[in-house]
Parts: sequence; C-alpha cells; structure tokens
Amino acid sequence: MRYLILSDIHANLDALEAVLHDAGDAWDRPLVLGDLAGYGADPNGVIDRVRALDPLAIIRGNHDKAACGLDDRSQFNQVARTAAEWTAGQLTPANCDYLRALPAGPIVVDETVEICHGAPFDEDHYIFDGLDAQRAIEMLTRPVGLFGHTHLPVVFTLAKRELAATIPEDGREPIALAGGVTYLVNPGSVGQPRDGDPRAAYGVLDTGARVLELRRVAYPIEQAQRKIQAAGLPPVLANRLALGR
Ligand code: ZN
Repeated sequence: MRYLILSDIHANLDALEAVLHDAGDAWDRPLVLGDLAGYGADPNGVIDRVRALDPLAIIRGNHDKAACGLDDRSQFNQVARTAAEWTAGQLTPANCDYLRALPAGPIVVDETVEICHGAPFDEDHYIFDGLDAQRAIEMLTRPVGLFGHTHLPVVFTLAKRELAATIPEDGREPIALAGGVTYLVNPGSVGQPRDGDPRAAYGVLDTGARVLELRRVAYPIEQAQRKIQAAGLPPVLANRLALGR
C-alpha cells in the first residue's frame, strides 16, 4: 500500500491543493494525522477535500477538538484561541460533526504503520527532544509510527536500543526502511510549516517497497495570506506562512 501522509493542514486549502497536485498518483490511500482546522481561512474547504479523499485512517488534533467544542481552549495562546473561535463560527454543522467524531490517536493502520497526532502516550504532547522521542518510539507497536503536532519534519530511528534523529534534507531522496529498525516520523505540516522552509510538507510511504519519501512543495502563499486577512484573523497567522515559522 502507498500512503499519502498529511498532517497539520490547518485550514490551508491552497497548500493542500498544491500537495495533492504534486503527489499525483503516487499514492493509494491517505493517512491524516490531525489538525485539519485552526489558523487558516478555509476550514470547511479543507475538511470537505479531506473527506472526499476517503482517508484509510484519520485522527483528531488539538485544533480540531478546539474548533468543534471538545476542548475549552484553555491551553491555547491568544492567537490560537482567536482562530479557534473564528473557526467554530465558520464550520458547517456537518463538518463540525465530522471533527467531533474523529478518533483520538494512536491508531494502528496495518501491520507496518500506526499514527498519532502528538505522541502515542498523549495525543496532545509535543515530541521535541530525544527523551520524548525515546519514550514514544519504545511504545510503538508497529515498525513505523507517524506523528505530527510540532510541524517539524524529523525521522527518529531506534536500532539496538540506540536512538538517532535525522532532519530530512531538501531533495527527494527516498528513505529505505531497514529491517530491525523502528521509525518515528513527522512528515511536517502541510499548512503551517515551522522549520524555516515555507513550502508545504508531506510524505509518501510505500509499505510494499518499504520506502518513505518526505517531500516539500511550493504553493501560492500570498493567496492563503489574503484569505486570512480578509477573514479578519490575526495578521501574524498570515505573516508566519511566508517565514515558515
Ligand atoms: Zn498543528
């Protein structure tokens, strides 16, 4: 199976469309790691598009919970809270119900892959450092664990109890998955990258060929920014898209 891996789309339809165009027919089914909504100006457009893609597995993110009333937003900063309130006012009843029904991670997808939003031990936890990565990777029940939430692409590996981290470089060198190694992978964010590269990030995982690709693609950032400004969302949400921060 060839999976299209989408995480942290954040209501950025322009970025999602660029990813789908770039990915072409290189995939069979999508896996979606949460945070469809929040920050961007197209929550309904993104949710409709994702629903039409018929993901094989999809889980909720913290912004999805906040947008549909499953979370009181007390953990959010002012900008995130403002965006969540705006999003809640925009969601169609059907899309609100869809977000409410999304399961929490982790979810086992098949014999090779499991997915979570933040960490396998806590859907809202950020995996930034080796300590958290070690704890998370040791909890995996499959050779490949996919996560999001930090918006930072990274590949952690565990082999013979040694943890290593690799930041994917530009270009599209596929990663051949080795036997006896466990992988904990963040594909980066489709709609709000934070690693200094403003291009949309996504992944393709071929479980048959045992190959993982982490990809970047440019999208019309100004278009997404204009929509955020026109919606009256906090200007920082438009500005940061150009910085990839
Ligand atoms: Zn996110």
